[in-house]
Amino acid sequence: MSDFERIMLEKEIEVDILEANRLEDENPVTPVRLTPEDSFCFVCRRESSCWNKCCHGADITLTPYDILRLSRRMNVRSADFLIQFTVPAIWDKADLPVAKLRMTGEDGKGACPFMTEEGCSVYEDRPATCRYYPLGLASVKMKGAEDKDEFYFLVKETHCEGHNVEGADHLVSEFRTDQGIDPYEAVNQGWIDILMKMASWKTVGGPFGQDISAQTQKMFFMVSTDVDALRRFVFETKFLQSYEINEESVENLREDDEALLKLGFDWMKHVLFDDPTINLKERVLQEAIVKARQDMGVA
Ligand code: SF4
Ligand code: SF4
Repeated sequence: MSDFERIMLEKEIEVDILEANRLEDENPVTPVRLTPEDSFCFVCRRESSCWNKCCHGADITLTPYDILRLSRRMNVRSADFLIQFTVPAIWDKADLPVAKLRMTGEDGKGACPFMTEEGCSVYEDRPATCRYYPLGLASVKMKGAEDKDEFYFLVKETHCEGHNVEGADHLVSEFRTDQGIDPYEAVNQGWIDILMKMASWKTVGGPFGQDISAQTQKMFFMVSTDVDALRRFVFETKFLQSYEINEESVENLREDDEALLKLGFDWMKHVLFDDPTINLKERVLQEAIVKARQDMGVA
């Protein structure tokens, strides 16, 4: 068991991972944990007087799969999507660099660039946070438990009339399915694990977040936001000479963006936490051991 896992077992740590904070409510979160079997009352209707209000001034952290889906929809490279539609930010719960959706207006409180009178113009490819809304996703590590536990919470903003409609009850699990969340989580899970671990480590005062090198931050940002750059990194550097990846998977990675992202998350877990999610080739490992011994002055 690693130092990280030992510390985590001794603490109960809760981290909100995906939550669309709008700017006008200080604390709209209802402090009740919801499981997939719980129900909540909500419906979003075109005729509501609050129509589109939630798409103004929204603080939306884009997940890797959000950026992939939106770039594909617009038929642009991830790098061009980033320049046009995002602002770089630090996800301060973990001191990790992320991309946020750029709202219009000089103060960033204007409309989302994808909002139209009729609603969301990228609805089929809208970000995970928009799909969850008005739910948020959090992860908790209970004292003594080995695995993390995920749960949901309700975000009730004063402007949103969707909570006041009688009879509009949903199970959380049904809402997730209706909103098409599963394919997003299937790709993003490794990335969410990294955010959770880094945020949890920061909570207990561990070294990550302060000691993480600028180079590692840069690599995390690349893995999180730019699948084209990640592909160049895998195929045009010594990456494939250094790590054990079978030939069939290598061929698949040339075309399969989702598989490439998952490899990127596995690699970051290995770099950040020394997780055995990806293995160095034996020769590279031996060379690293020899070098480490030399650096320490051990024969
Ligand atoms: S992506 Fe769509 S749903 Fe999300 S804030 Fe923008 S317009 Fe609203
Ligand atoms: S009901 Fe809530 S989610 Fe729907 S448009 Fe109004 S503010 Fe947005």
